[in-house]
Amino acid sequence: MPPGMTLREFQRQIDATYGARDRARGVDGTFRRLVEEVGELARALRDGDPRTLEEETSDVLAWTVTVASLCGVDVERAAMRYANCPKCGATPCACPHGSS
Ligand SMILES: [Zn+2]
Repeated sequence: MPPGMTLREFQRQIDATYGARDRARGVDGTFRRLVEEVGELARALRDGDPRTLEEETSDVLAWTVTVASLCGVDVERAAMRYANCPKCGATPCACPHGSS
């Protein structure tokens, strides 16, 4: 996404670019694509190539936003849950290790 773009604008941009195709595919097929991209990210983590890691991260982000759109989830609102740790409310998280 271009510098300065909000998460809400990013979600709108993804929808403007792919929304018609995504709605035709439906949530099940789109979720499958997200899972495939997570698998590709797993491979990139094993390989460790920084460029591929960046690409696969962007794919996972874009498909996550797409699944959210198909389910009516506002990604910017959802992300606000992590403004601080949603469990303990602190930054950095003060939860006991292993609990989050
Ligand atoms: Zn915490």
